[in-house]
Amino acid sequence: MQQKAHKTKIIFTIGPATQDEATLEKMIKAGVDICRINMAHADHDWSREIIQRVRKVCDQVGRHIAIMMDVKGPEIRTGDVPETFELVKDELFEFTYGQGIGSTGDDGVRRVDVNYPGFAHDMNEGDTVLVDSGLIRLKVIKITDTTVRCKVLIPGPMGNRRHINLPGVRVNLPALTKKDQSDVDVGIEQAIEFFALSFVREPKDLDEFHTYLEKHGSDAKIIAKIEDQQAITNLDAIIQASDGLMVARGDLGIECPFEDLPIIQTRAVNNCIQETKPVIVATHMLESMIESPIPTRAEVTDIANAIREQADCVMLSGETTVGKYPVECVETIQRIAHRIEEEETQVLRKDLVLRLPRSKMLRSAAYLASDLEGSLVVFTRRGIFAQKLSSLRPNVPIYAFTDNPVLFKQLLIMRGVEPFFMEFDHDHETTIQRAFDRLKRGQWSKEGDPIVVITKMYAGEKLIDSTQIRAIN
Ligand code: PEP
Repeated sequence: MQQKAHKTKIIFTIGPATQDEATLEKMIKAGVDICRINMAHADHDWSREIIQRVRKVCDQVGRHIAIMMDVKGPEIRTGDVPETFELVKDELFEFTYGQGIGSTGDDGVRRVDVNYPGFAHDMNEGDTVLVDSGLIRLKVIKITDTTVRCKVLIPGPMGNRRHINLPGVRVNLPALTKKDQSDVDVGIEQAIEFFALSFVREPKDLDEFHTYLEKHGSDAKIIAKIEDQQAITNLDAIIQASDGLMVARGDLGIECPFEDLPIIQTRAVNNCIQETKPVIVATHMLESMIESPIPTRAEVTDIANAIREQADCVMLSGETTVGKYPVECVETIQRIAHRIEEEETQVLRKDLVLRLPRSKMLRSAAYLASDLEGSLVVFTRRGIFAQKLSSLRPNVPIYAFTDNPVLFKQLLIMRGVEPFFMEFDHDHETTIQRAFDRLKRGQWSKEGDPIVVITKMYAGEKLIDSTQIRAIN
């Protein structure tokens, strides 16, 4: 039977529900493309073990997936408390630094430490503090050197190390904290393919990270997670400075009015496609499937919406870290992706502004492949042609061949691209025939299938870009 890959790619976050070899095998066979390690919950030994385990299972299954390490970035958390306590509506409550755990101030005001010395400095009276994904809401009423006194607007339980969001507040934490750097060092050591950086606020955050990777000899790509209002203000510059974007809807929906979320998502997806950068829609895609074997109708529609918007990837978080039905989640996305992608009627996106002649050549090649009801084959060493073809969102498969093992797995993030790792020959025709052979052997194509090949070739001494109409032989 002929292979048919889904165009939309799937990222899953690994955790207790998916980390054993047998489940990993099922996940890889079910069609995940990238395994995300969330460093908010992972230590170094576990990360190393997981990366090696994923690669081992990939070798056993014969299908390779990429690894994405998601680093926490400038995140603020409350400290430890002796035991969880309930806040009361309208009570006064203080956030402190270095004052001790869950202590009570001299005037009887309860308080908790935060992990950031500059907290009081960055806040203003009237600001909002949200704790635990916005479940608890407080308003700042008074600030001293080390304390931020608040009034509780929406009460809730204050437990250990709760995540804090500060909508609209410019936090002066570095983009890559000391902890992030030590996490990143593990990713570099393990030669992973992607890093995702949380709470990217401006392009400078990414420039610093790129410099760090370059200095340490890593070819990994950086995905910018947009999670707050500052990121939205700087969206276009962030897209340009990144290798891809994640619409991190969890924090974004707390930091911004949630009714803005669909508008931000559409804009982020469109702008990334225009800028030829991959884009991931993340969080709560199949939240109910943490407990239930079937999705809610709203979740089906949400995934269908991300696919219709032509995002490159959808991402699973809690569904695959602690959920009861991780494999079913992947199968659910596959079913929705196949059905929705089948409904696409356009040959390719017409709204891309193509300036370079070689970009226009790619567009013509995609039209040609569609007209011939064939496929595209591209040979790529840096991934640029493959990414451009993917951004055109053609209605035909893109088979991308590379001799670069890191790029091979990085191509997995691109919508509609099926990557192959293969040695290139100095003779172009030998390379093309080798690729056709791989497509036949893997049952991606059969003899006689029309293929539009995009490759460099020699014209005399000169290396030129070429488009060729071929058939699998
Ligand atoms: C999110 O906030 O949606 C997200 C993906 O980030 P994290 O899981 O790191 O909170």
